[in-house]
Amino acid sequence: MADVYDVAVIGSGPGGHAAALTAARRGARVCLIEREQWGGVCLNVGCIPTKALVAVSQFIRQVRRAQRLGVTIQGYALDYPAVLARNERIITTLRRGIVDLLRREQVAVVNGHAAFEDAHHLIVTHEGSSQRLQASRVIIASGARPFSGAWTLDECHLLSYRGLLALSQVPPSLLIIGGGVIGCEFASCFAMFGTQVTIVEQQPQLLPGEDPEAVRWLARRFEADGITMRTGQTVARLERSAEGALTATLSDGTQQHAHAVLVAIGQRPHIDALQLANAGVAHGRGVQVDTWLRTSQPHIAAIGDCVEGHGLAHWASAEGAIAARNLLGDPPEALQAIDVPRCIFTDPEIAHVGPLEKDLGETVRSNRVAFGALGKSHCDEQTEGFIKLLADRTTNRLRGATIVGAQASSLIHHVVVAIRHGLTAKQLARTITAHPTWPEVITETAAHLYGESLAVSARRAPSVAAGRSG
Ligand SMILES: Cc1cc2nc3c(=O)[nH]c(=O)nc-3n(C[C@H](O)[C@H](O)[C@H](O)COP(=O)(O)OP(=O)(O)OC[C@H]3O[C@@H](n4cnc5c(N)ncnc54)[C@H](O)[C@@H]3O)c2cc1C
Repeated sequence: MADVYDVAVIGSGPGGHAAALTAARRGARVCLIEREQWGGVCLNVGCIPTKALVAVSQFIRQVRRAQRLGVTIQGYALDYPAVLARNERIITTLRRGIVDLLRREQVAVVNGHAAFEDAHHLIVTHEGSSQRLQASRVIIASGARPFSGAWTLDECHLLSYRGLLALSQVPPSLLIIGGGVIGCEFASCFAMFGTQVTIVEQQPQLLPGEDPEAVRWLARRFEADGITMRTGQTVARLERSAEGALTATLSDGTQQHAHAVLVAIGQRPHIDALQLANAGVAHGRGVQVDTWLRTSQPHIAAIGDCVEGHGLAHWASAEGAIAARNLLGDPPEALQAIDVPRCIFTDPEIAHVGPLEKDLGETVRSNRVAFGALGKSHCDEQTEGFIKLLADRTTNRLRGATIVGAQASSLIHHVVVAIRHGLTAKQLARTITAHPTWPEVITETAAHLYGESLAVSARRAPSVAAGRSG
C-alpha cells in the first residue's frame, strides 16, 4: 500500500519548502521528500554559509579601516576553524527551525531519494529500504548542482563551492575559474582572509551581464584588495604537482600557480535520477515548464533551480508558493520577473532590479547619485558607491535600479517595492526618509530626477557633497 498525499514535493530547498508550507496551509495533505540535508543547497552549501563568511570578511575590513575612524586596533588573527564552527551552528539552528515548522504545519517530512514510478507514484529510497507514495499532484524542486565542465573535481585541491566550504583551513592561494556571482563572492571573502586570489573569466568583464559601471567599481576594489583578475582568458590546462599544488596555463600562455582551484562555471539542474520519463515529464537540461510552472503533465509542477535559468533562492521560494497555489486550483498565476532583485554579496555589494539601462535605451531617464552625497556615508566611513535609478520617460514610473556600495542589498528593496506597486519617481522622492540614514540616497536620487534634491545640484552631475546638514 502506498501512503497517499494531495501534494508530494521533491526537494527541501527554498522552493520546495515554500511549496510544501503553502500547500499545507491550504489544508492539503502534503509530504516533502529530501535526499540530503534539510534546507537544500541554499541553507547547507549556498546562500547561508557563504553569507556567514561574507559577514566575517566585512568585519575584517572594518577592523582594517578602524584607524580611519580614529580607533587603533593592535592586531587580529583569523581563527578559521572557529569561523567554520560558527557556520555550522547557524546552519544547524536554521535547519532545525525548518523541520520544526514543517512538522507544526502537518507536512510529512520524508528522508530519501525520490524517483517517479509513474505520473502519480514516487518510490523513495533511504538507507537500503524503499517506500511507495501516491500523490494527486507533485512539485519538483530538486535544485541544481555544480557544473565542472571538463574538469574532474577531487574536492581537495580542485574544488566546487561544496569543497571550498568544506576546507578546514584557508588556502594560501586560490585560483577561481569563472568570474560570475559565486566566483566573485568567494574572491571577495578569501582576499580578506589573506588568500592570494586570482580570477580567470573568459568574458571581457567579471560578472558578465551586470551593469558595466557597477562592475568597474567592483574591479577597482578587487585590485586594491590584491585580487588578480584575468578577464578574456580561459584555463587551457591544469597540472598538479606531487604535493598537490596546481599550475594553470591560461589561453594567453601565462601560468598561474595555486594551492587550490575553485571551478565556478555554473550550475546544472539536478534531475537525472528523478526518472522523469516514467511520469511523462518533458525536460531539456532542466525540467520544462509553462508560464504557470506546469510541466508537460498538468498535475506536476517544477520550480527553482531544477528549471534552468535563475539561480536565486528568493525566486525559487516565490515560485514554490505560486506553483502550490496554481496546482490547488487558484486562478493561474505567473511570477512577475520585473521586480525580482539580484544581489551580489561582494565588497562593495552590487544590487540590481529591473532591466539594465542599456536594454531600456531611450524609453527611460536615468539618474545617478554618488554615495558621497549622503551624510550617513561619511558618518559610516563608507563613501564609495552610487545608486542609479531608471524611470519611464513617459509615465515616470520606476523601471529599475543599480546600487553599488554599503547596504546595497538592503537598499534595493525600497526600489523593489516602488516598482511592484507602480510608483513614479516623484512618489518615491516625496516619501520622507529619516536623516541620517542610508535610504535617503534612494529618495535623493528620485528627487534629483526632478531637480528637487536637497543634497545634489540639479544643474550638474552629482559630485561629492556634504549631504544635508545634521
Ligand atoms: C555558493 C552559493 C551561494 C549562493 N548564494 C545565494 C544568495 O546569496 N542568494 C540567492 O538568492 N541565491 C544564492 N544561491 C542560489 C540558491 O542557493 C539557489 O538558487 C537555491 O538554493 C535554489 O533553491 P531550490 O529550492 O530550487 O533548490 P535547492 O536549494 O538546490 O534544493 C534542492 C534540494 O532537493 C534535493 N533533491 C534533489 N533531488 C532529489 C530527489 N530525487 N529526491 C529527494 N530530494 C532531492 C537536494 O538534495 C536539495 O536539498 C547560491 C548558490 C550557491 C551554490
